[in-house]
Amino acid sequence: MSSIQNNIRNFCIISHIDHGKSTLADRLLELTGTVEKRKMHAQYLDMMELEQEKGITIKLQPVRMTYKDYILNLIDTPGHVDFSYEVSRSLAAVEGAVLLVDASQGIQAQTLANLHLAQQQNLVIIPVINKIDLLNAQIEKTFQEIKQLFGAGLTMEPILISAKDGTNIEKVLEAIIEKIPEPSGQIQKPLRALIFDSEYDTYKGVIAYVRIVDGQVKAQDKILMMASSAKTEVKEVGIFTPQLKAEEILQAGEIGYIATGLKEIEQCRVGDTITLSLETDQQALAGYKEPEPMVFASFYPVEGNNFDLLKIALIKLKLNDAALQFDLESSEALGRGFRLGFLGMLHLEIISERLKREYNLNLVITTPSVSYHLDKMEEPWVKLEIILPQSYLGPLMKLLSETDSQYISTEYLSQDKILLTYNSPLREIIIDFYDQLKSVSSGYASMAYQPIGHRPAKLVKLDILIAGEKHEAFSKIVPEHKAQKEGRALVKKLKETIPSQLFSVAIQAAIGGKIIARETIRAYRKDVTGYLYGGDYTRKKKLLEKQKKGKKKMKALGKVNIPQEVFIKALKR
Ligand code: GDP
Ligand code: MG
Repeated sequence: MSSIQNNIRNFCIISHIDHGKSTLADRLLELTGTVEKRKMHAQYLDMMELEQEKGITIKLQPVRMTYKDYILNLIDTPGHVDFSYEVSRSLAAVEGAVLLVDASQGIQAQTLANLHLAQQQNLVIIPVINKIDLLNAQIEKTFQEIKQLFGAGLTMEPILISAKDGTNIEKVLEAIIEKIPEPSGQIQKPLRALIFDSEYDTYKGVIAYVRIVDGQVKAQDKILMMASSAKTEVKEVGIFTPQLKAEEILQAGEIGYIATGLKEIEQCRVGDTITLSLETDQQALAGYKEPEPMVFASFYPVEGNNFDLLKIALIKLKLNDAALQFDLESSEALGRGFRLGFLGMLHLEIISERLKREYNLNLVITTPSVSYHLDKMEEPWVKLEIILPQSYLGPLMKLLSETDSQYISTEYLSQDKILLTYNSPLREIIIDFYDQLKSVSSGYASMAYQPIGHRPAKLVKLDILIAGEKHEAFSKIVPEHKAQKEGRALVKKLKETIPSQLFSVAIQAAIGGKIIARETIRAYRKDVTGYLYGGDYTRKKKLLEKQKKGKKKMKALGKVNIPQEVFIKALKR
């Protein structure tokens, strides 16, 4: 039985952030006539408002194009390390990858990381050097770096392009058709579709983004999600133009969507295999490794009655962001909320932005931290890879020496470009290490990291006492040798944010009852005599006496009223 399969090519574009993936995708959409010229705008596939604004890709985005007799399915991917889970899912749905390298920057840390992901999936890789129009393009040097990186695995010369000017884009299309194999699934076999993403539609329910591996699927088919065991009837199938467009049928080799009508996201999980309900002895496809959250922070609605809205928002965001994790949590000071797990700080930032914008939520976000295993006294570690010009080696090693990291190796990628490998405690690199790395290297260094498990650590719980009273919301886990420094910083910050009271207030940091840092907020003297004009000295004195008594009384009670803004200000990054 012949099929359209011979003429299908499925591929991704991968690279370090900003090397031009979305811009190349724009040119491909133009050249193939997928998007009308008058509707075209830059980074067309970055469909989220936030992506357009920040100029970065956050979500993977599939699109079908036709070129000559071929159907080309492209999945545009993010380059930032926090979103590599999006990349790995995209890679499992395709046979090839276009690897872009910016000619003015050469190989960067995420070029390596994404290349390794693609190689693990045995994808055919088409090397492309982009931005050859730039005055400071170093084409030959970049070529040498690619050669060195691939070694014997380099099967073709890199294609030299300018995605911005549209130079040599046809060559990329020709290479995709020629080098990337057609999909190998079989249309006669029972349906097997890999869910690589999903979204929610009020009318159509969960819409699964799928790669049809074997068989075919159409509306009204009865389907089964193999892992969740959920059964349903297909509402609609279709393709990405990139907007959803209904089609009669999807067949082996194709990338498209299945509207499932399911109302609960848990029933249609990313990584699951969809098959026909009648097929009882099907083998599920290899799914994805569950992403491991790296940073945690608690989110509380400022208006307590917005708890339900926050819950709904998180459930909806999770549908579109499989890496997001959350659990119920409550705190005496902050009420009901959730503890969220993220892949990194940018991920955290994006989610908090989306909650604010898309759901109008005003949130208290606690200080982000890594996940410590307190029972076993362990903390998470990562393998850290940094690529930098040799001239910055000194300052960089100094920076790393302050982070409890272990040096592993140095490798030369070219004459003056180094790949440094360290093992590091995640706590040291997750919050602001990236900014420091950029500043000590004048922006030239790039980094990537991956978890390597938990290791023993001496951890202590740092408590905060305000006027002698412990406030759990400010407590945090820290390594013992950093406790002093952290404690001092925290009491200082609280001193700046808590408004002064009628009596002086001690703010203390403590470990197991032992005070390690202290600040005092001086009492403010409310001007109780202000309304008395003239020289009524005795009345003034009386009022001041009365005030003094009041202070004493309040001090004895030890109650400090901490307004909610303080929690927000002191806990915010
Ligand atoms: P992505 O993060 O890999 O998707 O990168 P983008 O496509 O968003 O591009 C990042 C920046 O590089 C944008 O400002 C683009 O306009 C610019 N850019 C992309 N391709 C080229 C090119 O060929 N030449 C020049 N000069 N700039 C480019
Ligand atoms: Mg992009």
